[in-house]
Amino acid sequence: MDKEEIYKKLVEICGEDDVSIDDADLIATGDWIAKGLEALYDHISFKAGFLVTPKNKEEIIEIVKFANTHKIPIIPRAANTSLAGQVLPLKENTILMDFGKHMNKILEINLEEEYVVVEPGVEFWYLQEVLAKDGYFFPAEPGSAFSCMIGGMVGNNASGASSFRFGTTRDYVKGLEVVMADGSVIHTGHKKNEKSVAGYDLTSLFVGSEGTLGIFTEIYLRIKPLPKNEVSLIVAYKNLDNAYKAIEIIRQLDVDLALLEYVDQMTIEGMNANFKYRLKKGILTKKIKVPKRDGTLLIRLIGPQFKEALRKVQEALSNPEIFSTDLPKIQVLEEPLEQKHLWDARHYAGPGIARNMDPPKIPRMFIPAVLDIAVPPSKIIEFLKKAKAISQEFGILPITMGHIFDGNVHLISAQNVTEENLAKIKEYQEKILDIVYSLGGTITAEHGVGLWKQHFLEKEYGKETMEIMKKIKRALDPNNILNPDKMGVGEIPSIVHFKEIGDKK
Ligand SMILES: Cc1cc2nc3c(=O)[nH]c(=O)nc-3n(C[C@H](O)[C@H](O)[C@H](O)COP(=O)(O)OP(=O)(O)OC[C@H]3O[C@@H](n4cnc5c(N)ncnc54)[C@H](O)[C@@H]3O)c2cc1C
Repeated sequence: MDKEEIYKKLVEICGEDDVSIDDADLIATGDWIAKGLEALYDHISFKAGFLVTPKNKEEIIEIVKFANTHKIPIIPRAANTSLAGQVLPLKENTILMDFGKHMNKILEINLEEEYVVVEPGVEFWYLQEVLAKDGYFFPAEPGSAFSCMIGGMVGNNASGASSFRFGTTRDYVKGLEVVMADGSVIHTGHKKNEKSVAGYDLTSLFVGSEGTLGIFTEIYLRIKPLPKNEVSLIVAYKNLDNAYKAIEIIRQLDVDLALLEYVDQMTIEGMNANFKYRLKKGILTKKIKVPKRDGTLLIRLIGPQFKEALRKVQEALSNPEIFSTDLPKIQVLEEPLEQKHLWDARHYAGPGIARNMDPPKIPRMFIPAVLDIAVPPSKIIEFLKKAKAISQEFGILPITMGHIFDGNVHLISAQNVTEENLAKIKEYQEKILDIVYSLGGTITAEHGVGLWKQHFLEKEYGKETMEIMKKIKRALDPNNILNPDKMGVGEIPSIVHFKEIGDKK
């Protein structure tokens, strides 16, 4: 079917205002890897055919039925903040289906049964603000909390710094309304029941399916009362090894820990740039500065015993018998607003780092396979030490930040995109992954598989498990229209191998 016919049909379903073929709406925004490859190679362009912004489930059903009949790919898209290329279009005439414009309503809030029903385009921060008025929250907060949407969080099974305490998005999805690839509509799970083991757990299957199995039109989310008491700490040792020791000590303490983040010096620079910006804008009234030291930890304690917990943590982390030559600088933040600024600055550290850097003269890209690895928590320090040695060998010095308590770290390195560097990146990420897998880890703890990590899945799970995943995909989407080329469940596009891609510019 040619482009004009598809356009006509989409306009017939959604109306002219909700179908776009403007270049600005169709290009891959925000994906550093895609941008880098587009800059290096002539023929590479991650561009969709159409952007549609459906108003309701009925329009989605019609679009899906039409697309399925004519084998036209659809990529469901929420806020487009994914970091693994989940929403990158590869195939011609791909329909990007965006929920932010219309399908952004909170449909029901039920405090008695502690759930909400939302459309996929509801922004996470907006839901939090609405719930906070009643003293509730949806705890699976990712680093992109300021912009991501619930549909995308469910699509990726997003999680974040406090997931070791509160769980991931999957733990909060009670059920879903899903438009399947043939246009039928199913409901999974239960909105009101706390427990049910009736049948296969389809909700869990859809959570984290990255738009490859069905399109969520309603999401039933569990909510929780906001913790009433909390305190945050910045603990800075000169020496990284002492921060590692401190983490092991905290593991043994009987305290209600809600967050523990390790931040390296680059991340601290990004955070401090963000504090400066907030002060300048008058949002922050009191100066906060994270000391630029090698072994810096950010900690949040909650619960009715938080004052006692604070005393225990301060005492244990300053124990002169252990840290005699490197007693930490400890800052305690008690004001709720100050604490919010601390955690916001951590979330915004990335943009803060970018603000501190010279604009790149050559396009740069992240190294995809090391962006979001995790190992068993007891092995994280061993991993960090081994990864540092390999990074030094390759002359790659990634920004290292992460949710160290649950074994998840982000190694972020912006590399100039050249053919030579692509070969180096390939080798580097394979060496890092060898360590990850030798320690029993995973290629992605929270960002997802998307386009850029799918060829590693077989190494992680083996052929047999991958074959089951492929069978599920074929059963639910036999024409492969829903977010094709992702998750390792179809033919894996050669572009992910960074070799023999084609002619350079
Ligand atoms: C600065 C920064 C920090 C980040 N930190 C974290 C972090 O701490 N933890 C974390 O988990 N992630 C993090 N991410 C990655 C990403 O932001 C999250 O995974 C986020 O939840 C994605 O939400 P989104 O609304 O942008 O979804 P999108 O990127 O638009 O989509 C995500 C996936 O969901 C699918 N999808 C979207 N809507 C639907 C629907 N209605 N039905 C079916 N499938 C759908 C898409 O096809 C896609 O595969 C970060 C990203 C950035 C830029």
